Amino acid sequence: MQNQPSRPATWDRQADVVVVGFGGAGAAASVTAHDAGARVLMLEKAPKGQEGGNTRVAGQGYLFTDSAEKAIQYLNAMCGPFTVPQEMARVWAEENCKNNDWLASIGGDPQEHQHQPEGIEYPELPGSDSVHKFHHGSILGFSNTWKAFANAVHQRSIEILYETPAVELVQNPVTKEVLGVRAQHGGKPLYIKANRGVILTCGGFENNQEMIRNYLPGVPYCYTTGTPYNEGDGVRMAMEIGADLWHMNNYAGPSMALKVPEYKTTFPLRPLGPTGEIPGGMIIIGVDGKRFADEKRRTMHGKVKTNGRWAPYPTPCPMFMVFDHTLFSAGSLYNKAAASGWNPLVDRYEWSADNRAEVAKGWIKKADTLSALAGIVGQPAVTLEETVSRWNQLCDVGKDTDFGRTKMLSPIKAAPFYAVELSPSMLNTQGGPRRNEKAQIVRPNGAPIPRLYSAGELGSIFSYLYQGTGNIGECLAFGRIAGRNAAAETPSE
Ligand SMILES: Cc1cc2nc3c(=O)[nH]c(=O)nc-3n(C[C@H](O)[C@H](O)[C@H](O)COP(=O)(O)OP(=O)(O)OC[C@H]3O[C@@H](n4cnc5c(N)ncnc54)[C@H](O)[C@@H]3O)c2cc1C
Repeated sequence: MQNQPSRPATWDRQADVVVVGFGGAGAAASVTAHDAGARVLMLEKAPKGQEGGNTRVAGQGYLFTDSAEKAIQYLNAMCGPFTVPQEMARVWAEENCKNNDWLASIGGDPQEHQHQPEGIEYPELPGSDSVHKFHHGSILGFSNTWKAFANAVHQRSIEILYETPAVELVQNPVTKEVLGVRAQHGGKPLYIKANRGVILTCGGFENNQEMIRNYLPGVPYCYTTGTPYNEGDGVRMAMEIGADLWHMNNYAGPSMALKVPEYKTTFPLRPLGPTGEIPGGMIIIGVDGKRFADEKRRTMHGKVKTNGRWAPYPTPCPMFMVFDHTLFSAGSLYNKAAASGWNPLVDRYEWSADNRAEVAKGWIKKADTLSALAGIVGQPAVTLEETVSRWNQLCDVGKDTDFGRTKMLSPIKAAPFYAVELSPSMLNTQGGPRRNEKAQIVRPNGAPIPRLYSAGELGSIFSYLYQGTGNIGECLAFGRIAGRNAAAETPSE
C-alpha cells in the first residue's frame, strides 16, 4: 500500500467531482454537485451496510437557524474571544438558515425536536434564540435523518465505491492543483481522476489513538461511540499536501463508558446517564481510589463549568464504576435499544437482561466484599472502604457536599459488589484541515489548495464550545457549499 507512485501513468477511473466519505457531509456535497451537473463518484472506506459514518448513528438532529445575524452572534460567543473569520461565520449562519428548505427539496420532512430533554446549550449566550434542532420524519433517532440523506444519494446517478478508502491526494507538482486521489480497492491501488475537484468528507480521528494522544486535551486515550472507520485519514492526506489544521483540540467529549477489546466502539452505561434514577448505589473512582466529580452531572458535550470557565470533564484514568447488588439486579446496565450509537444500531451486541453474561466475560468484576473488590480495581482495601463509607454517609444525610450530586443518592450496601472499568468516550472530533468560506482547504498562509474542498466534522467550524445538532447542520451547510463550488470548477488538463 505504501510507496505507490503518487501520480499514475494512467487513471483507473474518472469523474468531475470525487467525494471521499459517505456520511452526512458526503451526501450533501455529492447531491449538490450532481444537481449542478457534475458527474460524481463517491469513495467509502466501510463495506456496504456500514457506510454513513457518525451521521448514521447520531441522535439525528441537525441545526436550523432562523436569523443569520443572531446565529453569527451565537457562534462568536461560543468561540469566546478567538472567533473564526467572520466571512466563515456568515456563510455558516446563512446556510444553516437554509437547512430545512434543503431537506424538503430532497424529499425529507423537517420536524422540530419536541420533548427534547436537553434544550439549546448555552442559552445564556447572545443569539441563542435563533437556534433550533430539527430532524427528518416523525421519529427522532434510529438513523432516520440519515436515511433521508442516503435516499437522496441513491435516487441520483452517483456511483459509490464501498471498501475503497482514499489513501493519498494526487497533486500536480507544479500548479499544486489536486488532480485526483489514490484509493485502495481489493488490496490494489485505484487511481481516480477528479476533473473538477475533490471533496474530503471522511470525518475525524475518533478511532486513531495516536492523533487522540497528540491533539485532544485532558485524556490519555479515548474511544468513540460512533463509527470505527473515522481514523484521521482526511487529516493525514490534507497535511501531506500542506494544509493548515484548526480546532484539533476540540471534541464532543469526554463522557465515560465501557470499552472492551472485542468491540471497537464504546458501550454507554445506563446508570451514568445524566437523567434518570436507577435503584442501588453507584460511584466512580479515579486512579487514587477516590470520587472526583458528580457522576450524574449533565455536561455540555463533555464540558463542565470549572472555576467559572468551561473545561473538559475530568477523567483520571483508569476509572471504575463501583456499585452494589441492588443496582446490578435492576436490569441491564446497557440500553441496547438506544436510538443512537454504533453499538446499538450497527454492531448490536445482545447484552444480557440480568448482566450475568457480562460478568462471565469479565466485563463486570464481582466480589463478595469491598476489600476483595479493592484488589480487583487496584486499590488498598482501606482506600475503597473509606471512599464507599464516605459516600454512604453523604447518602444518609441526603446531600452530596463533596461534589453536589443530586441524583441516585443511594448507598452502596448490598453485597456482592461490582466494578466496571470506564474509559473516556466521545461522539466525535471537530478538528481537521482548515477551510475557508468557499469550503476550500487552505494552507497556513490562507491560500486555498486548488481544487480541494472539505465539509463536515473534518475541520469543523466549532473551535471550543459546541451546540448539539451543530455538526450535522454544518455537514449540510458546508456540504452544499463544497458541492456547488467543486462542480463549478473548470475541468483540469
Ligand atoms: C452517538 C452520536 C450521536 C450524535 N448525535 C448528533 C446529533 O444528533 N446531531 C449532530 O449534529 N451531531 C451528532 N453527532 C455528531 C455527528 O454525528 C457527526 O459529527 C457528523 O455526523 C459527521 O458527519 P460527516 O459527514 O462529517 O462524517 P461521518 O458521518 O462520520 O462520515 C464520514 C465517512 O467517511 C468514511 N471514511 C473515513 N475514512 C475514509 C477514507 N479514507 N476514504 C473513504 N471514506 C472514508 C467513513 O466510513 C464515514 O462513512 C453524534 C455523534 C455520535 C457518535
